[in-house]
Parts: sequence; C-alpha cells; structure tokens
Amino acid sequence: MNGKEPGDFLEAQSGLVFKEPLIFELDADKGGGLSFQEKQVSGPGLGIPQEFLRQELPIPQLTEQQVVRHFTRLSQWNFCVDTGFYPLGSCTMKYNPRVNEEGASLEGFVSIHPYAPEQAVQGALALMYELESMLARITGMDRVTLQPAAGAQAELTGMLMVRAYHRDSGNPRKKVLIPDSAHGTNPASCALCGFQVVQVPSDERGLLSPKDVSSRLDEEVAALMLTNPNTLGLFEENILEICEMVHSVGGLVYCDGANLNALTGIARIGDMGVDLLHMNLHKTFSTPHGGGGPGAGPLAVKAILEPFLPVPRVEKAGEDFFLREDFPKSIGRVKAFYGHFGVLVRAYAYLLSLGPRGLKEATLRAVLNANYLRVALRDLYNLPYDRLCKHECVFSDRNQARLGIQALDIAKRLMDYGFHPPTIYFPLIVKGALMVEPTETETPETLDRFVEAMRKIALEAHNEPETVRSAPHITKVGRLDEVAAARRPLLVAPRAKFDSSNQEPF
Ligand SMILES: *Cc1c(COP(=O)(O)O)cnc(C)c1O
Repeated sequence: MNGKEPGDFLEAQSGLVFKEPLIFELDADKGGGLSFQEKQVSGPGLGIPQEFLRQELPIPQLTEQQVVRHFTRLSQWNFCVDTGFYPLGSCTMKYNPRVNEEGASLEGFVSIHPYAPEQAVQGALALMYELESMLARITGMDRVTLQPAAGAQAELTGMLMVRAYHRDSGNPRKKVLIPDSAHGTNPASCALCGFQVVQVPSDERGLLSPKDVSSRLDEEVAALMLTNPNTLGLFEENILEICEMVHSVGGLVYCDGANLNALTGIARIGDMGVDLLHMNLHKTFSTPHGGGGPGAGPLAVKAILEPFLPVPRVEKAGEDFFLREDFPKSIGRVKAFYGHFGVLVRAYAYLLSLGPRGLKEATLRAVLNANYLRVALRDLYNLPYDRLCKHECVFSDRNQARLGIQALDIAKRLMDYGFHPPTIYFPLIVKGALMVEPTETETPETLDRFVEAMRKIALEAHNEPETVRSAPHITKVGRLDEVAAARRPLLVAPRAKFDSSNQEPF
C-alpha cells in the first residue's frame, strides 16, 4: 500500500474519462466541411437525379480533421484489452498477438469469394482441413466442424446432432441434464431443440456429483451437458465416472469447452469420455472477444456422431481438397458458406506460432494467474469454494455485504482504479459473485496492481463505504440504469442544435 489515489493509477488514465459532444454540437465553423456545388453531383453522367438532392438536411459541417478527432476520441471511451486489464470471468479477455491479424488480412485470404471453384481456393480449404485436425488432436476428438459462428451456436449444432443420433437409433429421447452452474446458453440451446432441461445441483465442493447425476438418469435422458472446468473455475473431478454412467443408459455427454485455455496442451476432454465438445476460437484461440465482432465455435465430436455433422465438409483426396455434401444423415447447414473464415485463419496462425509447447505454457500461465489472485485476495474477499482453481476464481461479496457494500459497488469502484470490472452475479449459485479471469497474457505487475486496488476497495468498504457505494467517480458517466439502457435504448440523437457558441470539444 503506498497511498496512491485512484487517479494516480496508470490504468485510470485510459479509456473511460473523456468527454465529447455530439457531432452535431461540434458543428462550430459553418462551412468548415466540404461543400459540393450542385453541378458537381448531379447532371449528365454524374448519376444523382435532381429530385434526390436536398439542402435542408442537418448534416454537420466539419473539417476532415475534426471528424477524425471526434471519432478517435469516441473510440477511446471504449475500454479494451489494449488499454487495460479486463478480468471479465468466463470471457477470456486476453491479448491476441497482432501477427495473427496480419495472417487474416493477407490478400490471398481476404479477396477470395465463397463461390470460387474449389481448384482456385485449395489453400483456404487446406487451412480449414488442417485447423480441423489440429483442434481434433488438441481435444482428443475424432472430427470437427468449423461452421458454428459462436459457442451458443455450437451448442445448438451439437444438440441438433444429439437429437438426430437418438432418432436414428429409434429412440428419440426427451431430457437433457444440466448442472445448476451452467452458462445460460446451455439450457437455452437444449430448449431450442425441444429438449426438456433437468437441472442437477452442484455439491458442497462446487462440483457435479455422481450421486446427483445417477438419481436423475434414465433411458429418457438424451445427454448430459456439462462444463469443464465449470463456471466456478473448478475441474469436474468425477467426469470419468459420470460419463460412464450416462453412457450406460445410452445417453451422450456434451461438454461446453468455451474456456479451453484451462486445459489446452495439458489434458484432453476427448480422453475423459465426452462425445461432443465445443471451443470458442474467440476466447481461447486468438480472436478478440467482445464488441460483437465475428467469432467461431468449432464443434468436435467422436466418430459415432460423424454422420450427423453439418455439411459441407472439407475432405482430402490425394493432394487435393474438396467440399463434400452427400452425407444423408447430416443435420444440414448451420451457417452460410463455411463459417467465419477470418476467425479460422487467426486460430490457425495462433496454433502454428505457439506450437504444442507454447499452448501448454499458455495454459499453465492462465491457471497460475488465477490461483495467484485467489490466494492474494482470499483474506479480504470471501471464497465460497476455496480450492485450487483452473483459469478463473470466483469470490463473493459476503464480507463486504455486512458493511452494506455489494458486488456491484466493488465492480463500479474498480473502474475508478482503471480496471474493467470482473463478471458479477454469475455463476448464479454464488450469492454476490465476483468472477475473476486474469488470463494467461497478464504480467505479474498488472496482477499486483489489481490486487492492490482490490485491497484498497476492501479497506474503503470499512472506512469510507459511501465512496464505494457511489462509485464510479472519475468515469464519463456514473451509474446507469442498466435495465432501461438495455430495454429502451436511445438510438436517435436529440434534434440537432446549430448554436455555434461554446462548442469546443473537451
Ligand atoms: C462464452 C461462453 C459461452 C457462449 O459462447 P458465445 O460464443 O458467446 O455464444 C458458453 N459457455 C461458456 C462457459 C462460456 O464462457
């Protein structure tokens, strides 16, 4: 502790503290922008018919530089991995090396057309074929589809395959067992396929117990859908026994592997008895995650499920790669063309640049970093399941709640220290959860500064609770009405005012 104030933190200089008027309000110098003469935009050969030309639109008059600065400043409000530590649990907000971006923007990849003949895109097909086989080797599975656009879509794809598998064997089953710690997409994907979701409680150690699975298991169970490591960041230690039990009644086991940076290069889910597994390339395999950009959720399956995989599939004959559609039991297509190809290129580049040793090292660091934070904060923050964790650790606000400070307050106060808040109030089985995922790419120095900020907040909760309750104090906006922001978004700028006084940007 060295007496630093929130604003003194290096991280707090980033992102969240700028002010910026609307572009309409910036319209200071009338005529600063470019003005077209009517004869430059309409008339013979110029294309815009006279009736489409209007003078009265309130378009701001700005110079190019004003526009660039306005949008650049706005872009800096957006907190991102490039500006600061972003320990959002379950989201793996890690640094993704720029070299993978470069690979994805190579001319040969960005300029190909999805309708190009196979002979003209052999390189792209080879990349997909090799990526599939690398992911299969990493996970211990037999075959992979790269089509799903995200984790949730991979779950849907997987459950459609589970349904097709049981129908094909003449016993369309109805139920899917899902632990109560699961990500919300799990039950949603099952319900979308018409399955009835049966919840399995976690035991006192935060794990799935064979006893609780077995008491819900019968011949109506199509699958068990588990997450490993689970959303508490804990490894499901009974997975071998549980998979055997599910198989013994003819059910399948689906594993949500969205957070594979806890296992890659160390252990393979396929060796644990799992039949279907998805990965999030936009978490583990080097596509920036968040902000709504494209992702990819490859789904890996065991051989028994191969006939049901989506089409088209990339196949190899001799030295040639081709696309094959004639699989009569396939569930069909789940995504236009071949999935989000740019994301696949990034993952391919990432896997090749790290290699097996690099992947293993990344996993070891992800786990070490999470355990470092767990141990460094457990004297001040309650740890409902204080055991060796994998890629993330889940605290609760129990100690602070006694002082009237909730998880939300702690999260908001962290913003004053320049850190993105962790995931809060998830998983649902932990009251007041603070789910921290430091990822493998953070340095010990950053982790120490985060620990220092968290420890200061714990002290503040005792000594000046109002400071924490009313945080954040140095961000552009304070506490938003988050429900209204999601339900009643204001998407139209207030009517433009063309008052040119006092319009200097901050
Ligand atoms: C992120 C995540 C998902 C959903 O992945 P999307 O790509 O956002 O659809 C599912 N399960 C877990 C455990 C996750 O962390």
